[in-house]
Amino acid sequence: MGAAKTGNGHKIATIGSHSALQILYGAKQEGFSTILICENGREQPYKSYKVADELILVSKFNEMLKLQEKLLSEKAIIIPHATFFDAFGLEEVEKLKVPYFGNKKILKWEADRLLQREWLKKAGLILPKIYKKPEDIDGPVIIKFYGARGGKGFFLARSAEEFYKKIKEREARSYIIQEYIVGAPIYIHYFYSPLTDELEVMSFDRRYESNVDSIGRIAAKDQLDLGLETSYNITGNMPLVVRESLLPEIFRMGEAAVKASRKLDGDKIGLYGPFSLETVITPDLKFFVFEISARIVAGTNLYINGSPYTDLKYGEPMSTGRRIAREIKAAIEQNKLAAILN
Ligand code: AMP
Repeated sequence: MGAAKTGNGHKIATIGSHSALQILYGAKQEGFSTILICENGREQPYKSYKVADELILVSKFNEMLKLQEKLLSEKAIIIPHATFFDAFGLEEVEKLKVPYFGNKKILKWEADRLLQREWLKKAGLILPKIYKKPEDIDGPVIIKFYGARGGKGFFLARSAEEFYKKIKEREARSYIIQEYIVGAPIYIHYFYSPLTDELEVMSFDRRYESNVDSIGRIAAKDQLDLGLETSYNITGNMPLVVRESLLPEIFRMGEAAVKASRKLDGDKIGLYGPFSLETVITPDLKFFVFEISARIVAGTNLYINGSPYTDLKYGEPMSTGRRIAREIKAAIEQNKLAAILN
């Protein structure tokens, strides 16, 4: 990649996990210098793929908080991803002094499943029903634990009795009981640019979860004999294109989520940058949205070289990571950097 650095001396920084390879590679494609903060022992991929111009090793990610003066002096811009929120928690992220790409005021709406629901309802999206108490269960439900990483520990039930039996086998944690939608899961990757006021559909993925994605390899009789329980622990992602006639609705849903987000924060700025709607589409082609991620999702890692959709739009490799860097570069050129950083 070209030696001439762009971006007015700004550098792109992130922490070493989740989608850091994509973020830093995309930043370098756009001519930025990159910084990676990485936990000891996890640096090998980043060294091998040479995405970080500067590698800062720490024993725990949250030591980044002590590096803020250094990052500020290097004009670093932080690109957050899911591991970032696991490492720091909402309050610490809100207090960060290093410029951060995204609207921090949206974070609390994403972090709390009930607030998130309020947001998605405001957007007019179709959501799975929530059951207030186990006794109300009248069909298939999925029980989700708060703060569970990648669907770990989620379980299915069909009655209050089954719910109580299964919850007893698990450690006590807060949960929600959600209607289980039988259909095809589709994760939609969007990017909304506040500079052009355009919503882009970047790509799609489906997840590869253990053990739910391998249970189909075992005959139904053996599944019963083995007493198998499904779990949803994320291990990877698989590429997907959607039936083209679904695209108008997919654009509409993304635009509705962005528009509704402007009613959530006092400044009416709302959501911008990468985000994802996590959906299940039923046989009658209705999208049920069960979650929104207000940041880059790991399914975009499939498309470091671009997706069929970014090919159509850009005609050059455009990952979500590169799209973020391009937005920052455009903001610098237009003197609007403050509008996209927090
Ligand atoms: P999550 O961690 O919320 O992304 O969900 C983990 C897994 O559960 C994914 O495979 C989803 O497809 C599945 N899932 C989550 N919510 C529902 C739902 N309401 N109906 C059907 N599947 C769901």
